[in-house]
Amino acid sequence: MNHNRVGRIRVAATLAMLGVMCFVPPAAAQDTPGKDVKTAGFKASREAAEADACREHLHKIHDAITAFEGAHQRLPNWLSELSPAYLDAKLLVCPYVTRIADLSSWRYRNIREDVFQDPKESTSYAYEFCSKEIPLWPGVKTTWREFKQRLVKRMGRAGEDAVPIVRCFAHEPILNVAYGGRVYSNPANKDWEELFMPPFTHEDFHPETLYLNEPVMVDRKRFLPRASKTEARLLDLSKHYNAYLDEVWLPYPRECDLKSLPQGDQEIGGVRFDVRGLAQLSATRLLAPYPTNVTGVKVGASSTKIHFLHATRPVPVRAPDMAVGTRVATYVIHYENGAAAEIPIIYGRDLKNWWFDPLKPEPGSARAAWEGENPASKAFQRKIRLFITSWQNPRKDQTIASLSLNSAMAETAPFVVAITIE
Ligand SMILES: [Zn+2]
Repeated sequence: MNHNRVGRIRVAATLAMLGVMCFVPPAAAQDTPGKDVKTAGFKASREAAEADACREHLHKIHDAITAFEGAHQRLPNWLSELSPAYLDAKLLVCPYVTRIADLSSWRYRNIREDVFQDPKESTSYAYEFCSKEIPLWPGVKTTWREFKQRLVKRMGRAGEDAVPIVRCFAHEPILNVAYGGRVYSNPANKDWEELFMPPFTHEDFHPETLYLNEPVMVDRKRFLPRASKTEARLLDLSKHYNAYLDEVWLPYPRECDLKSLPQGDQEIGGVRFDVRGLAQLSATRLLAPYPTNVTGVKVGASSTKIHFLHATRPVPVRAPDMAVGTRVATYVIHYENGAAAEIPIIYGRDLKNWWFDPLKPEPGSARAAWEGENPASKAFQRKIRLFITSWQNPRKDQTIASLSLNSAMAETAPFVVAITIE
């Protein structure tokens, strides 16, 4: 395998998911044939004169932002806030876009293109310091503005001249005005971030990296209460949930949740489960503060079989396929007498990634027990799924005190939705 190529795809694919307009190399492009990518008919200008005219706009927009900030002690939430007081509204549309009279192609070029979502839809420019929220993980969210301000700081002296505040994608190369006012371009087949790698790394440009010391904080009252009639053998994971089913628990893809999974006491793949939340485990390069181990899952009974409802999340987003046979987790059974048994969780045999292409055959014998969708999967023509691993207990007469779920820190992050003993 050509590692440079893999690394390149990861950078582009992950930055693409940040909502940052970027070059999508062929392999990733095949992976995102979404109908939301409204690029038909769009042709970036390569004319130097058109670019120069746009540069003038960018300088004036930057001046207006500076004036706005001076007057309001904050940045505008959206560029439309600048006009009419600080800027002629005409300057919010690239002269080239005005000429081709096609304002819409410049927005929503990619799914969840936050930086184009000016509520007045009156600009062709992307505003990267907008007030749009970025949910990161339970209890922690940021905005584009705060994330970009932290990024400027993290980059130190280079930051103000590097981090774009306003961008024009109507040209090739793409035009950017940096936070500090420098106008520069980046080739359309490269992310602006790549111009600064090294010394910075791919991870440096992720919002997650800037928020890693802000722990996951779930509000236990937000989970559906466990039904009083639910049998004890449907283990109660309430204490161990660190993510909600109906809300994103990692920032990308956006609007990517398990809302379509029926909640409560549910039969899935012929097994009854108590479905109300999930326990996400960490993985190598998972840029989110999830634990490596979840311990002390109370059992207090003997059992012939244990069923786990689970799947994995690729790390980073849309990373290359995991190799079948990779151990992604180890679940440990702790018997009351002090003995323990390990259940290796093997990629391809026990589970696979939750996000998948229903048209693409995959290696590995694991078959999904549940399939569903969410807004992100629909937009990318993908589906989501969960798997059941049923483990035969060799010590069926011994009482099991507890279970622990341990990530093997592979390049995919396991999560467990429910556990049932029988
Ligand atoms: Zn332009």
